[in-house]
Amino acid sequence: MEYLSGLVYTRGGFAEGYVAIEDGRVSEVSEGACPGRPSAEGVIVPGLVNGHTHAADGGLRIPPGMPLEDLVAPPDGLKHRYLRETPAEVLKGSMREYARTSAENGISVFVDFREGGEEGCRMLRSVSDRAVILGRPVSPEYDPCEIDGILSVADGIGLPSVSDVPPAYLEAVADHVRRERRMLALHVSERVREDIDTVLSLDPSFVVHMTEASDGDILKCAEAEVPIVACVRSNALFGRVPPLARMFETGADVAMGTDNAMLCSPDMRAEAGAFARVLSCQGGDPRDALDALLAGGRKILYRQTEIGLAAGNEADLAVVEGGKDPLTDLTSCARRIRRIGI
Ligand SMILES: [Zn+2]
Repeated sequence: MEYLSGLVYTRGGFAEGYVAIEDGRVSEVSEGACPGRPSAEGVIVPGLVNGHTHAADGGLRIPPGMPLEDLVAPPDGLKHRYLRETPAEVLKGSMREYARTSAENGISVFVDFREGGEEGCRMLRSVSDRAVILGRPVSPEYDPCEIDGILSVADGIGLPSVSDVPPAYLEAVADHVRRERRMLALHVSERVREDIDTVLSLDPSFVVHMTEASDGDILKCAEAEVPIVACVRSNALFGRVPPLARMFETGADVAMGTDNAMLCSPDMRAEAGAFARVLSCQGGDPRDALDALLAGGRKILYRQTEIGLAAGNEADLAVVEGGKDPLTDLTSCARRIRRIGI
């Protein structure tokens, strides 16, 4: 039996107590004094989920001041040329390093929008068993064989923004993914506002960014129960700020992602800190950052409605140094974090 003690994120919120782990599962979550010597103390939370990453581009050095479009727009943005021209072993090395750093930062799973079709997905699968992979097709035309090939390795399909691909292509890919009952996600309103009705007609599992979205667009996502993954630090590098307070006001499910490895480290505490600051500036509640950090990604991946730790859970946890104020502890990169379990 292993014990963790401190401020535990339970289904009823944070409570002083302890967690017992046995045979890879949480066997007890209780308030009060820990009955045994704890192996770790602090703020005890479920393993973190990074809702949006591009793990392979960490080796790319970006020229200062480069506009977002020149950097990431397919097919010939700098990032895409880098991914095409860099040897597979170098990219796999970057992805392996990214997965290692993610685990060190308490991240249990990262949802990667993997470029490079089926082969790109195989590369990531070969170096990490903790990536949820959403593959991006290479062909500019809908190719059912290519989608089947990607889905034989990946968990779903992750597409660039709707402005980058023709509507007929989007519809065909979305129909295919729905038939296979897999995940479909796409970048939406990152550089320019895009038509949310078109996006929602695809029935996506979630959307990423919504930086340029209107209040009405966000409300439509909330009503359609399509979660939004926000990437505050990545957006900030291009002078953009996602309307986080509005997302929470409308009741949307919000998760957070650290986006491209070339832009931001896979550190959810840094992301949560930036998230909380933006919420404060927008008149929102900075504590909503904790909901996005701890619950948002898990709701998307596991369709869980109750997120806090409870007996029977897989032992997939993180313990953060501290234990007095979860918002401070979980948004500070200065606090040590340790992953527990799988
Ligand atoms: Zn992205």
